[in-house]
Amino acid sequence: MPISCPQCAAAMPNAAAYCPGCGRAMRPVERARGTVGALPETLAGALAYFLLPAIVFLLVKPYNQNRFVRFHSFQSLGVCLVVLVVGALLRVVGFVLFFIPALGPLLVGLVSMVVILAFIVVWAVLVVKALQGEMFKLPVVGEFAERKATGD
Ligand SMILES: [Zn+2]
Repeated sequence: MPISCPQCAAAMPNAAAYCPGCGRAMRPVERARGTVGALPETLAGALAYFLLPAIVFLLVKPYNQNRFVRFHSFQSLGVCLVVLVVGALLRVVGFVLFFIPALGPLLVGLVSMVVILAFIVVWAVLVVKALQGEMFKLPVVGEFAERKATGD
């Protein structure tokens, strides 16, 4: 049975997650509200982005049995991996750019700053979303995290 969007009245199959007309989410976001061990799930999810807790959560019960915490822990590790790879790439690019007279070092500084700022923004969003109980998925890294969180 088709349903229609309460915001723009576009019709869509009732399995649709988002309105094709205006992009409104058609299903309420599933939020974590429980507790895991001594912590609220939301706090554990947010802590996972401070790296060391993510490793602890993935090794220690009952945290490693909680889907929400597992998801954020894996996503945190995935982001770290991306940071390492991007950091390595920046070094290579920086090395090459450095040979451009005058402008080179400036470009290196600028590119590094933009990348670092972008990561800080993404990281802050991830922490806030976890605190709000959302399984906020980044592209690629989030897919991997979701598979790992539900898989084994
Ligand atoms: Zn709509």
